[in-house]
Amino acid sequence: MLNLVILGGGKGKRLKKYFTGSKILLKVFNKSLLELNFNIFKKINKKYLIINKSQIDIIDYLKKKNISGLNILEEDRRLDTGGCLYHLKKIKNYKKKVFLIIYGDLLIDIDYQRFYKFFKKTNSKISLIVHPNDHIQDSDTLEVKDNGFVDKFFFKPHKNLNKISTLALSGVCLIKGSILSNIKKKKLKFKSILKKNKKYVSAYETREFIKDIGTPKRVEWARKFLLRRDVSKKNFKNPIKTIFLDRDGVLNKEKKDEKVSDPFNFTKGALRSLKEINKRNYIIVIITNQPGVAKGYISEEKLKKLNKNYINFLSRKKIIIHSLFYCPHHPEKGFKGEIKKYKIRCNCRKPRVGLFKKAIKKYNIDLSNSIFIGNSKTDYEASKNIKVNYLHIFGNSKVSYIDKKFQFSSFNIAIKSYFKN
Ligand SMILES: [Zn+2]
Repeated sequence: MLNLVILGGGKGKRLKKYFTGSKILLKVFNKSLLELNFNIFKKINKKYLIINKSQIDIIDYLKKKNISGLNILEEDRRLDTGGCLYHLKKIKNYKKKVFLIIYGDLLIDIDYQRFYKFFKKTNSKISLIVHPNDHIQDSDTLEVKDNGFVDKFFFKPHKNLNKISTLALSGVCLIKGSILSNIKKKKLKFKSILKKNKKYVSAYETREFIKDIGTPKRVEWARKFLLRRDVSKKNFKNPIKTIFLDRDGVLNKEKKDEKVSDPFNFTKGALRSLKEINKRNYIIVIITNQPGVAKGYISEEKLKKLNKNYINFLSRKKIIIHSLFYCPHHPEKGFKGEIKKYKIRCNCRKPRVGLFKKAIKKYNIDLSNSIFIGNSKTDYEASKNIKVNYLHIFGNSKVSYIDKKFQFSSFNIAIKSYFKN
């Protein structure tokens, strides 16, 4: 049985200009965060709110608004999430329950039933919602294994920003009540619980809207620029528009003869254009053939590391790439230095569409309102195979097999034109 726990958080000290009192009473779209979060989660067994004794304003608010159905758990003083979990032990039969825990100061709209399915399928004890992030300096982040479980945590404070993952903890998690019995102390930090149970902690990656609006800048942004529908539009149930990108020859200059291109050798205006995509309601998915692995020019390990550095670099430039999928294979055998196990006819090498399908499944993509930008006949054919609109970046001259109005001399110009129409 799924139970919701909203953490009441603290007073909005940094928000003085807008508001005094408990942060979760802050109003966005004419409703308090507490009301918004309380109403989003519908098919839930019981709802709990953990506050501390000094947050009388919350109790008053609930009375005034006549909000019922929320069970209040009070703590003596403000505690870390770990400490809040300690209080859940007051709930009868807590060991048999599952708790969906959210920070009350988050503005959020997620398909939590899907998250719950993932939690059950992976048989995790704790499942954390994570998302790609462009302020890793003040986030806890992690790396995920292919099976969905956590490989490595990176907790704040970070010593070396360019060495950490950009998948950040969002402040939403599911936990099995049975794990609470191990929490003996009120003062236990959540990160110690995570570290200790790492084997049983999975990470659920989402593109949905989860943002804490605990700083004046973010409140201002939310109130001025954000609409309720922008938030709900990103719920997984609603397909999302996507810009698929080939990398080499589109975002960076391409090495001929399929040797490994330097992804940091950006084409003019590429970074600005990526930012432009991020500003709109699109996600970015890079799909790249990297036959250099099969040909023995670079090991897959090295390529993975290069990709991580690349995503990390862009994140620090305030650019979010939702996924980068690569194909390491190459079909033709018989070359010097080749690595046999990659010399296969796979489903992921463009013009085949394995990687596109992976992205569609992961993000629920609105294909008819998405585009793919590439620079080769292979890319063009891939776009036909998956049935997505295609923009072509040409090298020296335009090609004959694509209508001229869909051809551009650079990624930068293609994006400008696309968003103008
Ligand atoms: Zn492949």
